[in-house]
Amino acid sequence: MGETYVIVGGGGAAASAAESLRGDGFGGRIVVLGDETEAPYERPPLSKTLLRGELEPASVVLRAPDFYEKNQIELLLKTPVLELDLSKRSVRCADGQDARFDKLLIATGASPRRLGIPGEQLCGVHYLRTLDAHLARRAKLLSHPRILVVGTGFIGCEVAASARQVGCEVTLAGPSLPMEHALGKEIAALYADRHIANGVSLRVGLTVTEFRGSRAVEAVRDSDGSELACDIAVVGVGVAPAIGWLGSHVVVSDGVDTDELCRTNVAGIFAAGDVACSWRPRLKRRVRLEHFDNSESQGAAAGRAMHGNTHRYDPIPFFWSDQYDVSLQYYGLARDWDRVVLRRRVGDESLIAFYLKDACVEAACTLNRSQDANVVKRLIGRSGVSDADLADDAKSLKSLIPASEYV
Ligand SMILES: Cc1cc2nc3c(=O)[nH]c(=O)nc-3n(C[C@H](O)[C@H](O)[C@H](O)COP(=O)(O)OP(=O)(O)OC[C@H]3O[C@@H](n4cnc5c(N)ncnc54)[C@H](O)[C@@H]3O)c2cc1C
Repeated sequence: MGETYVIVGGGGAAASAAESLRGDGFGGRIVVLGDETEAPYERPPLSKTLLRGELEPASVVLRAPDFYEKNQIELLLKTPVLELDLSKRSVRCADGQDARFDKLLIATGASPRRLGIPGEQLCGVHYLRTLDAHLARRAKLLSHPRILVVGTGFIGCEVAASARQVGCEVTLAGPSLPMEHALGKEIAALYADRHIANGVSLRVGLTVTEFRGSRAVEAVRDSDGSELACDIAVVGVGVAPAIGWLGSHVVVSDGVDTDELCRTNVAGIFAAGDVACSWRPRLKRRVRLEHFDNSESQGAAAGRAMHGNTHRYDPIPFFWSDQYDVSLQYYGLARDWDRVVLRRRVGDESLIAFYLKDACVEAACTLNRSQDANVVKRLIGRSGVSDADLADDAKSLKSLIPASEYV
C-alpha cells in the first residue's frame, strides 16, 4: 500500500490539488475531507449569475460528477475536521474517525467575518459563502424584497448589482465608496456612480449597529440611532481564514504561513487557497489572496509540491469582478500606491487604471478592456514607464515593453 495524502477542505484548492496529484502520477491514496454537502463548486457565481437565477446550481460544480471516482479520489462530504493531531499524523473528524496521513494539505479556505451585533441571528440576515444557503436566499430575492447590503467590498457590491438587476430595492451601506480599499478613490467613484445610476441607494458612512425585528429582520439601526427598513440584509464584511481546527503547531499569521512551495513550517504539511499566507518571491512578502484563480492554481501547485515537484509558485495575482455591464480584471497586488494613472479611451467608458509606487507598476485593473489583459500583465512589476505613456491611449501598450522581452 502506498502513502496516504489527506486534503482538508472541499473547495477549488482541494479539487485542484487532488487533480494535480493524480496528474503528476501520485499512485497512493488521496482523501479529501470537506464539511459541505456538495462536491467542490465555484463560489463566484453565488453573488452574480446564480443569485440572479441565470444559472442552476448543478452548472457550477468544478469537476464532472464521476471525476473523483474515476481518479480514485476519496471525496468525503459532510465531514468537518475538528482537530490536527501531529503526534499521530492524523486529523480527527466530527464523526469521531481519525484520518491518518503521510502528507496533509490544508485547504479550508475562509469563512465570512461576523458583525457580532444584536439581531444577527434573525431570519433574513445572510452571509454569502455556501451554495446550500444560497438557494433559499435566491428564492427570496426573486420576490423583490427591500434589500440592505452591509459592506462595500467586492461581494457586497456584486450582490447589490445583482439584486438591482432582478428588480429589488437596494441600499448599499459601508464605511467607504465601493471597493475603495482595493481600487482607490478614482475607480471607487466610478463604481459609486454606476450603482447610483442603476438605482441603488448608496449610504457611505452608515454603520449598522443592530438588526431589528421580531422573528425576521425588519430594519437596521445606524450608529446615529436612525433606522432603515429592509426585508433582507446581506452582510459582506470580509472573511477570515478557517484555521480553528489547526491547533498551535502550524505557524499562522494572516493565514497559514507557507513558502513558495506551499510548505508550512511542519514537514509534510502544505497549505493553499484562501487559507494560505504564502511567500511570493516577486512581491518579496507573504500574502493571503481571496481569489478564485489563486485557489485553483495554488491548489494545483500544492499537489505538485506534495509529490516532490520543486517548481516555485509565483504567478502574477489575478481576480475579476462583474457588476452590471462592467467587467473588471485586476492583475498584480497594490496594497498602497503613490498614484493611479488612468488610460481612457475616447468615446467609451472602458479604461485601464495603473497603480504605481516608486515608479513601479504594482498593479493594474481593466474595466471592459479584457483584450488588453496580456500586455497589461507584462507591465506589472515594471519600473520606468512614464505616466504620460501609460495614460496615452493613442500609444500602443505593447510599445511600452522592450521588443526583446515581448515573445
Ligand atoms: C460570493 C463570492 C463571490 C466571489 N467572487 C469572486 C470573483 O468574482 N473573483 C474571484 O477571483 N474570486 C471570487 N471569490 C473568491 C473565491 O471564490 C475564493 O477565493 C475561492 O473559493 C477560494 O477557494 P478555496 O478552495 O481556497 O476555499 P473555499 O472555496 O472557501 O473552500 C474551502 C472549503 O473547506 C471547507 N472547510 C472549512 N473548514 C473545514 C473543516 N474544518 N473541515 C472540513 N472542511 C472545511 C469549507 O466549508 C469549504 O467547502 C468569491 C467568493 C465568494 C464567497
